[in-house]
Amino acid sequence: MNSSLLKKLPKIDVLLSAPEMRVLFERYPYAIVKETVQEYIAKLRSDALADRISSMPSIGDISAAVSKKLENGDIYSLKRVINATGVVLHTNLGRAPLGREVAQHVADVAAGYCTLEYDVEKGERGSRYSHVEKLLCDITGAEAAMVVNNNAGAVFLILNTLAKEKKVAVSRGELVEIGGSFRVPEIMSQSGAELIEVGTTNKTHPEDYAKAIENGAEVLLKVHTSNFKMLGFTESVDIPELSAIAKPSGALVLYDLGAGFLFPAEHIGINEEGHVVGKCLSQGADIVCFSGDKLLGSSQAGVIVGRKELVDRIKKNHLTRMLRIDKLCLAALEMTLKYSVSPDLAKKSIPALEEISMTEGECRNKAAELAAGLKTSCHGIIADVVQTKDEAGGGSLPGVEIDSAAVEIVVPGISAAVLEEKLRKRSVPIITRVSRDSVLISPRTLRENDAEEIISALAEICICGVKK
Ligand SMILES: *Cc1c(COP(=O)(O)O)cnc(C)c1O
Repeated sequence: MNSSLLKKLPKIDVLLSAPEMRVLFERYPYAIVKETVQEYIAKLRSDALADRISSMPSIGDISAAVSKKLENGDIYSLKRVINATGVVLHTNLGRAPLGREVAQHVADVAAGYCTLEYDVEKGERGSRYSHVEKLLCDITGAEAAMVVNNNAGAVFLILNTLAKEKKVAVSRGELVEIGGSFRVPEIMSQSGAELIEVGTTNKTHPEDYAKAIENGAEVLLKVHTSNFKMLGFTESVDIPELSAIAKPSGALVLYDLGAGFLFPAEHIGINEEGHVVGKCLSQGADIVCFSGDKLLGSSQAGVIVGRKELVDRIKKNHLTRMLRIDKLCLAALEMTLKYSVSPDLAKKSIPALEEISMTEGECRNKAAELAAGLKTSCHGIIADVVQTKDEAGGGSLPGVEIDSAAVEIVVPGISAAVLEEKLRKRSVPIITRVSRDSVLISPRTLRENDAEEIISALAEICICGVKK
């Protein structure tokens, strides 16, 4: 232990009254600066005790470090991370990232009053849905649209409005659980709908639905089996067939699409049919609902589109008040929808779509650039470009692997598990994958400047590794 170094540890009150700290008090509340300084000093003390440092930083250095921590939002529990996993709509990392302009627009709306429920033309109360309804109708061809807090809420609200005390036919192959707490049978019973299971786990035929209608079913519910894929001897009934079966009796066709595309997936290089909201409607679905923060690439929301008479009934359900979307999500959604009017614009402006559509070649180039940067700046590092598969994530495109490239990293003397942990426990956590005793960094999900931050993080780790 270096006791002369410990003696140089600055006192908290001396630090807090130092002129260098003054600018911080202009920008952040006193209590927050104080807490951050205390944490920083505690870390210095433990570093000095463990001989991890050989000199004490100056007050100027300390104030710069504290300032950086405050800027990074390090003091918060909910904060930015760097997603180096290659999973785009990562459920645990907040699903879709917003683009800079969208985030700025959300900030502008948040920082003041806004037109949330105010009609500026008429000078009177307006509707929260008015900001996105026309856009959604124009893009999907729907007669009417509304949005709620999330898609789970949308499914519940739709069933509670249109299927309460009615028999609802669902294929046994679609009685899925999504994300642990969203289970179709439970949502149905809580909404007041009576579930009639049709078909079998792997195969459901048109006749199964027809028989359910004969037995009194007034609603046919289709659920996208988002987070798993059945292979082999399987069969399900698609929307055109469901609609043909439902029509004669006047039964409704409802579709929980989960992750909805506003245009065909081929525009972002994904070879996958289905998922296109407008197509489901034109094929005869009466109501379609989907998430705002999956393939739409916006904030959390549950979007409901379909026949006007039905959407109007849903809007009038009192539960809508409990599931209502907040103004910040709505601001992000309106702007994202404006970008969604053309696939080319969407692909450029919506980060989730931009990331999914990155080709293997583009990933490879970025990986090569990152690997070269790492080798220049990080002493002793081994960084190789390797071929990998990425995922859209969020249960949006199960079974679809996206060809990709990543940087495979080894720091001599540090195991992959320890390296993963060191990267994860930084003030801006870097979330990586571990594969075959190395750490993988996928460029697909890196946002601007993330690569530089990864290089400086690994440069620090390598210096410490060498010292040991
Ligand atoms: C994701 C998903 C949901 C839940 O949507 P949230 O927006 O997360 O509430 C419901 N149904 C399906 C089919 C899904 O894929």
